[in-house]
Amino acid sequence: MSVVRSISILGATGSIGASTLDLVRRNRDQFRVVALTANCQVKELAALAREFSAELAVIADEGCLPDLRLELSGSQSEAAGGQAALVEAASRGADITVAAIVGCAGLAPTMAAIEQGKVIALANKEALVSAGDVMTAAVARHGATLLPVDSEHNAIFQCLQGNDPAHVRTITLTASGGPFRDWAYERMAGATPAEAVKHPNWSMGAKISVDSATMMNKGLEFIEAFHLFPVGVDKLRILIHPQSIVHSMVEYRDGSTLAQLGPSDMRVPIASALAWPARMDTPCARLDLAEIGELTFRKPDEQRFPATRVAREAVMGGGAAPAVLNAANEVAVAAFLSGQIAFTRIVQCAEDVLARNLPPPPQSLDDVMAVDKEARIRARETMEPAR
Ligand code: NDP
Repeated sequence: MSVVRSISILGATGSIGASTLDLVRRNRDQFRVVALTANCQVKELAALAREFSAELAVIADEGCLPDLRLELSGSQSEAAGGQAALVEAASRGADITVAAIVGCAGLAPTMAAIEQGKVIALANKEALVSAGDVMTAAVARHGATLLPVDSEHNAIFQCLQGNDPAHVRTITLTASGGPFRDWAYERMAGATPAEAVKHPNWSMGAKISVDSATMMNKGLEFIEAFHLFPVGVDKLRILIHPQSIVHSMVEYRDGSTLAQLGPSDMRVPIASALAWPARMDTPCARLDLAEIGELTFRKPDEQRFPATRVAREAVMGGGAAPAVLNAANEVAVAAFLSGQIAFTRIVQCAEDVLARNLPPPPQSLDDVMAVDKEARIRARETMEPAR
């Protein structure tokens, strides 16, 4: 008989939230849903809370709480709203917390979940990029288990199992190259939000889709890998792999390279984290390499896609730089999506903010939040039209 585990999903109404809940739906006897959260999608959140009999549904935008209460009246789910409620939801001590809020907005609840010392399935890369050492120190202090959900990091995590990290020669993150992989830089300057969110292989939320198009996603993942797999920045590589079948690889000192392959479906890495250290079934398409026929690889082009260079410099600079980079990127992506700046300004904006005097290295969650807040102000300043 399988053991029932409790699960909370922070960001339940998003793309990762939907994929996670699809797996929970197919394995109802294995999970008990504690908390589900969203930002402002009240009806969607309430429907999920009812379907999964969640103990608690939290809407981050407090102004939406009356609507959520109304939607959940007569149900067995408690309704709550605002930032403190988000943190409270993450503190309920579920056996597994899926951190799937987009952006640094997910940092405080993810840290609250870490403090419970249970399993965190981490999709919210921006939280780890911003908090870096503050988060990894909290994981160690509270005896929590951080399982990466990002497909590349989940692949690396799997390839490292049973091996001594001391024997690692290189870790290679693969990247599809995004929808503008073969575009000239000048053409990218005129790219529209609709073109940028049309990822060739993955179906994802708008922010990560834009990050994939600029390659900042790979830059953030480089920083994420630096913290999750402490082999040193010199051993981390990025490789373009348009088919997104090889999700990443680890090369060992004896010349062996281990890779994880799978379909481009986030339910595979999510299932790997949910079932870890066991395995669970997924409804995902089986990998048919004969059908795919060809897997290709090429070097990244940092002239057209400077984001990975900017991220590498930020992680090597250390201190507040990764948090500043992440905050500036979040502001710039939002500005691009709302038509305020050109696509190619996104990474330039992050670089402009990083070129200013950086605040001292953050030592605590409050420090990280302060760095994030200040960097957002600076990013907005760089985007104001010159007077
Ligand atoms: P989505 O935009 O699809 O979903 C984001 C979720 O976070 C939604 O539930 C949203 O609520 C909630 N949310 C948004 N803003 C806030 C806020 N300020 N406070 C609280 N909750 C908020 O994103 P994805 O699912 O695509 O991505 C989630 C995370 O996972 C990101 O960090 C991304 O980088 C990472 N990731 C995603 C992958 C993917 O395939 N999608 C792959 C690998 C990593 P609401 O619906 O109400 O707006």
